[in-house]
Amino acid sequence: MSAEQDSKVWVPTCCNRVMRYNLFGQRDGGAYGAFVCTVCNKNITLEQESSAKVSNYGPGTSVLSVVASPRPPKEERRNNRSVDDDATTDEPTL
Ligand SMILES: [Zn+2]
Repeated sequence: MSAEQDSKVWVPTCCNRVMRYNLFGQRDGGAYGAFVCTVCNKNITLEQESSAKVSNYGPGTSVLSVVASPRPPKEERRNNRSVDDDATTDEPTL
């Protein structure tokens, strides 16, 4: 109803689970983060970047609001993608 309720965020998933987010500080004051799958241990490293540099990333670039939780819920995420998984419409057939 309100714009606040309608706003969407992105959830990083792997193995039908929400990926856990770990944040690491560095001695020079910077930081980096990692999304980790609690099932298969796949991880995705996130590096910090000045938002002013985003314009250098080319057309189609957007800045996402991603959920980064150190303790995400462990339940399987069946609800969102079950329809798409059957149709596999998002898989390119090249
Ligand atoms: Zn996984």
